[in-house]
Amino acid sequence: MKLFTVGPVEMYPSTLKIEGKQQPYFRTEEFSKVMKNIEKNFLASVFAPKNALFVALTCSGTGAMEAAVVNTVNKDDKVLVINGGSFGTRFKELCKYHGFEYDEYLIPYGEAFDKEEFEKFSQKGFTVLLVNACETGTAQKYDLKYLGDFCKKNDMIFIVDAVSAYLADPIFMEECNIDILFTASQKALALAPGISLVAISERAYSERIVNNHLSYYFDFNYYIDNQKRGQTPFTPAVGTLLATDERLQTIIDNSIEVEWKKHRNRAEHFRRRLKELPLNIPSYPMSNCCTCILFDDNASEIYTKFKEKYDIYLTPSGGELKNKQLRVGHLGNLELCDYDLLIELLKKELY
Ligand SMILES: *Cc1c(COP(=O)(O)O)cnc(C)c1O
Repeated sequence: MKLFTVGPVEMYPSTLKIEGKQQPYFRTEEFSKVMKNIEKNFLASVFAPKNALFVALTCSGTGAMEAAVVNTVNKDDKVLVINGGSFGTRFKELCKYHGFEYDEYLIPYGEAFDKEEFEKFSQKGFTVLLVNACETGTAQKYDLKYLGDFCKKNDMIFIVDAVSAYLADPIFMEECNIDILFTASQKALALAPGISLVAISERAYSERIVNNHLSYYFDFNYYIDNQKRGQTPFTPAVGTLLATDERLQTIIDNSIEVEWKKHRNRAEHFRRRLKELPLNIPSYPMSNCCTCILFDDNASEIYTKFKEKYDIYLTPSGGELKNKQLRVGHLGNLELCDYDLLIELLKKELY
């Protein structure tokens, strides 16, 4: 089996070793040390501002999306959602579900984020911006520096879902004025699903979180208090946190630039070789987390063929995009030669 998916992805041998072991009891000094080390390394990996706070949640990335929203947004807010696909839509649905006032900047399928269009939302009384650093549904990458400046100008809280972009694309939390930034364990960290890591600005904490109590399980106040001594309020996914610590330490020891470059090399190599095939890719800027490939009407057929015939998993899309696109992931334990093999098989199956 070979996974060119965006999560879960091919795991590293060191992760499999840790995840396969007996889970330890966690209300211990030893485990607290692990949690403090994850905090230090995660905040460093996103270039968080001084005094940024950290929480680890036991939930998938959508749990972190919901937690970020309910801990910062309230009924007096006017939320702006950047909706360029399935994950932007999820942010919109979260606002709707919780009864928050919102509007969306809707990007039509296949089109690039348009700054001129977006500027129409400036000075309109919006107080919170929700965006996915990479809209994984289409692989489109947004300009976080520009969006951070927009939020500063408009005095908005800036919430960034970096679930798929983290480690694939460089992210600078402080430089981009990001208030809340999160990722999840099954994407570039290449771990089992179940852990979300969240970085929080001091401002988001003091102006928002301390007053927001809309969820019991996800109330950041409990997590922030507990994390001061390296603990979580409830039982976390202990084994996955141990594996998180190992992965983050390795990434920091090798330098984060090496990790970014690894993903960039895979994406560039694959996109270069794709030119040998009669296939199109979108014209908007793509994240290095995955490459979106466009088809006329047979994407789903190709997906099934690769799965059944070669035990290779490409990333399918649902709904209207089922036959229109496939995504090829660049996350996890993959080598450039894996992409060469994929290109050869695509040539064989498409001609
Ligand atoms: C994968 C992903 C999520 C989380 O999805 P879950 O299935 O809940 O883990 C959230 N946002 C983005 C942009 C993602 O790519």
